[in-house]
Amino acid sequence: MHILVTNDDGVYAPGLIALAQTLRKIGKVSILAPDQNWSASGHVKTMHRPLRVKEVILADGSQALASDGAPSDCVALALLGLIEEKIDIVVSGINPNANIGHDVTYSGTVTAAMEAVINGVPGIAISLDSPENHHAHLDYQPAAQMASTITSHVLQDGLPVGVLLNVNVPYLPMEKIKGIKITRQGLRVYRDSLDKRIDPRGRPYYWIGGEAPTAIPEEGTDYGAVYAGYVSITPLQLDLTAWNVIAELENRKWD
Ligand code: MN
Repeated sequence: MHILVTNDDGVYAPGLIALAQTLRKIGKVSILAPDQNWSASGHVKTMHRPLRVKEVILADGSQALASDGAPSDCVALALLGLIEEKIDIVVSGINPNANIGHDVTYSGTVTAAMEAVINGVPGIAISLDSPENHHAHLDYQPAAQMASTITSHVLQDGLPVGVLLNVNVPYLPMEKIKGIKITRQGLRVYRDSLDKRIDPRGRPYYWIGGEAPTAIPEEGTDYGAVYAGYVSITPLQLDLTAWNVIAELENRKWD
């Protein structure tokens, strides 16, 4: 089996190395990832400039390809033929922060897996719910182990057409992880605030700042599972239609 590993934190990120090393035990791994951090860049298709790809050597001595495109560009490049050998699955991560609730629309980790699905290949996004303000070395091993287990199952059983898996792993030692739960998207609570400042030439500029988001640990949701010590697997689809309001909107007068 041939696994494409990518991420949104950049090809040199430790979470990508941990993921690639673990996945090498279950298949052949190729790496094509952005040459810089694209976190929270959403689903990107670069159309108005060329994309460059170069060979790089990672901290563990392994070879990888780095592109100046977004995570979704990296997946498109690989699946459209830049990597000649057929790719069976795309695994994106390991992101150092959880991607839960509405995060999935911002996340480069998740949109890389979405791009896989668009190209007819199963996609899995892996994120670690590391503690807020954790600046020390992160232990990616439990999340890498879970990623490998889940990837093996998907390689064996496949995924329904159009579906990707958004996996979030609690930041716990392996023996403290209680198991796996299939979940739905929960609710993030964003605490963004606008910070307006003045540049040296007297013009205003803006930072979208504020405190880190929190989330509601409701049972059955992604964050509810992670909060309770479980690995969360949320099946996502690119059909964003709000099916439950179609009938109501059809009954309105529109002209
Ligand atoms: Mn990231």
